Amino acid sequence: MKIFVEKNSIQKHVPWFYHPENPRRVEIIINALSKTFLNSYMLYVDVQSELNDVLPLLGKIHCKRYIEYILDRASKSPCELDPDTYLSRDSLELLVETVNLVYEIAVSHRNNDIIFLIIRPPGHHAGRCGKAFNAPTLGFCIFNNAAIAVEALKDNGYNKIAVLDFDIHHGNGTQEIYYKDPTVLHIDIHRNPIDFYPFTGYPEQIGKGRGKGYSVNFILEPESGDDSYSYILDHVLEIIEAYSPEALIVSAGFDGFMDDGLADTLLTEYTYYNIGKLLKELDLPTILVLEGGYNIGLERGVPALIYGALGIKKQYKPSKSKETIYKLNMMQAIKLYSHILKYLKKRG
Ligand SMILES: [Zn+2]
Repeated sequence: MKIFVEKNSIQKHVPWFYHPENPRRVEIIINALSKTFLNSYMLYVDVQSELNDVLPLLGKIHCKRYIEYILDRASKSPCELDPDTYLSRDSLELLVETVNLVYEIAVSHRNNDIIFLIIRPPGHHAGRCGKAFNAPTLGFCIFNNAAIAVEALKDNGYNKIAVLDFDIHHGNGTQEIYYKDPTVLHIDIHRNPIDFYPFTGYPEQIGKGRGKGYSVNFILEPESGDDSYSYILDHVLEIIEAYSPEALIVSAGFDGFMDDGLADTLLTEYTYYNIGKLLKELDLPTILVLEGGYNIGLERGVPALIYGALGIKKQYKPSKSKETIYKLNMMQAIKLYSHILKYLKKRG
């Protein structure tokens, strides 16, 4: 396990008004890792990056018009792209660096080690041409880091890749980019989008054309606890094993943690520890990119995940969903699981 902290993410892309996506997030993680002595796995990185070097990388996942739009808005920064998403004067510098860092790490990752990239800003809501599946905003995201990692793995010779997104919001951008692609299995676990940003990611949305069966949306009802999540994770593991990917990209968001601030789920260390254990069990070349998580989720969820991934024994007590909520989560999960497995088996 290696944890790379992008040094400039503590200094750049700074909101000039209150906004939950700010450099303090990375400081929370660093402090939490120091307190738990996990900082021995941590390394600061500072990659010199030029815009011209990353333009071809961005061109692999975003349309030209969107890239040009962002460059134009960045030249007029500070500005707001939409009510959720800002660009400060140095945001573009950090964006370029983040894309470059993700690509460089993923293109050379060859063993079954787990690498966690502590980077900003998050990316999973950024679709091919910006807002994905008609989302109202870009949701703090500008370029899609997870998709950059996927493309880097493809350039690295991997042909079958799984993406696991456990941020509490649907990774609509990543899903849109690979919606018709059977070489990328995208599994996303998130809060029921009926009344929750970005309002997409229903279990019925399973991909299109040749990609049908390769987009998987597990949903959690309001006030879901670790018990529900644990049930879903068992099925996630089976789906990933049935697909049998060569490598894994993880969109790691910690905003489903109880009282992190943006969601009403009741997840605790128990869930993030289990996710870590799942990654260890899969034993694949794995890269995690940081997505959401704003307060306590980062402070307590990040160390728990790392303990799990390292195989360090911890005893956490699971939070419980109300019985009706647990049953509903279970029913929805098992239905989706059987549906997806039929597709995966049919395609071999
Ligand atoms: Zn989120």
